[in-house]
Amino acid sequence: MKYVSTRDNYPAGQSAEVINVGMVPGGGLFVPRDIPAVNVAELAAASYNQTARCVLNPLLTDFSSDELGGCVEHAYNLDTFDIPQVIAVKALGAAHSIMELWHGPTAAFKDVALQIMPHFLAAAKAKLGESHHTVILVATSGDTGKAALEGFRDCAGISIIVFYPEEGVSEIQKSQMVTTEGSNTSVVAVKGNFDDCQSGVKSLFSDAQLRGRLATDGFAFSSANSINWGRLCPQIVYYVQAYAMLVQQRIIAAGDPINFCVPTGNFGNILAAYYAKRMGLPIKRLLCASNKNKILADFFESGIYDKNRTFYRTTSPSMDILISSNLERFLFEVTGHDAAKIRAWYTRLAETGRFEVDADTKARMDAVVTPGWVNEPDVLHTIGTVYRSHGYVIDTHTAVAVAMSAGMDSDGVHTVVDSTASPYKFSRNVVAAIGGKVVEDEFESIEKLHELTGLPVHRAVEGLREKRVRHTRTIAADEMRATVLDILKAWR
Ligand SMILES: *Cc1c(COP(=O)(O)O)cnc(C)c1O
Repeated sequence: MKYVSTRDNYPAGQSAEVINVGMVPGGGLFVPRDIPAVNVAELAAASYNQTARCVLNPLLTDFSSDELGGCVEHAYNLDTFDIPQVIAVKALGAAHSIMELWHGPTAAFKDVALQIMPHFLAAAKAKLGESHHTVILVATSGDTGKAALEGFRDCAGISIIVFYPEEGVSEIQKSQMVTTEGSNTSVVAVKGNFDDCQSGVKSLFSDAQLRGRLATDGFAFSSANSINWGRLCPQIVYYVQAYAMLVQQRIIAAGDPINFCVPTGNFGNILAAYYAKRMGLPIKRLLCASNKNKILADFFESGIYDKNRTFYRTTSPSMDILISSNLERFLFEVTGHDAAKIRAWYTRLAETGRFEVDADTKARMDAVVTPGWVNEPDVLHTIGTVYRSHGYVIDTHTAVAVAMSAGMDSDGVHTVVDSTASPYKFSRNVVAAIGGKVVEDEFESIEKLHELTGLPVHRAVEGLREKRVRHTRTIAADEMRATVLDILKAWR
């Protein structure tokens, strides 16, 4: 399978190459040239790992079956995920189910992809004869940093440096990151906001002089965010597996169409559902759920993407985003791989912060995506309602999607809501929403949530307060380059 750039500005390459490169150097993202089919009926009784091999094999054709199997076995086992099936599917009333994606080491759905991506990268490097020591640079506003640290921890030939805004992540998220073990991990607090971290990392990536200097020392930069195909493709697997599990649990019958409702930020997770649909999974509609930062809801309503707007901090911070990078892949697909259109739209976006799609593209988007957005009071209200009527606890991100799907007439089609984080990751707001007394201290709120609900504490946050802090570096935003050089001195 060859991969092409959404802007037709890079030679088509095999998956090992595009996983190693990450994003297209001149802008644009890699997508598969053709979309293979997967035989869903055949997977009716498959384990998660069997499904993973069946879905990934036809996408990563340059990986041998043994190489792929090795990656899958290393990523998904009872050391990494706390349930043998990796994900869980639970009915929530007759019309809805929840797909729990947070059973990995850091309690967010990003683990499903970031537990396997480092193995893909290591295998890709071996295949390409790439001898550089890879340095993964990550700017994080919370969940990605820890999931990437856990994925790349102790990975041979790869090291990882995570930058986070000193005041811009929750107490829990910070604590998760600074207590990370592993001799190849480094976590740095930046005096600034997330944008400072992100633009700092971007300028390191594009610093030719720095790259040259690193290459001499045997290092090369790479990235772990969801623009890398190696991070996106593992997410297709759980949509296929969830379907099989729904059939096994007799919640649906084999062949029935279903909807997925996805709490969306960077558009990676919902895009994986779109690829699952294109591979043959009977998905009727994709419900794209936004919080108060409703740029995607407006886009799917109007055909106009406009990032010239107020940015809000919400109780679902991982969805607080104004540029949804993976939307570019979706637009490339619905336009039938029209790179000229994509180039025009994204040039306009860079120049004016805005673009508008044509009527034909709009109609093709409408055929598969239903947009929606949920205001802050409704998010918290929904957590309370779901708890009182089903005895089930959801986090603030999941609540956005539950609230959206609850308010919709789905025409008798069963709707599965992606649950993207354990409620323990955002317990302060969850405790408040289910009517407990608000505890300001985040660690105390974990205990409080357990007392109130009896839900077992997720191991990602269990005993976190007592863990040894291993990363204490704090720097100014203009010290990121010097810091990277200093850290690499120790790794050389
Ligand atoms: C990252 C994240 C999201 C958004 O996922 P995208 O793939 O960026 O759309 C939603 N919920 C949680 C908890 C997340 O960590």
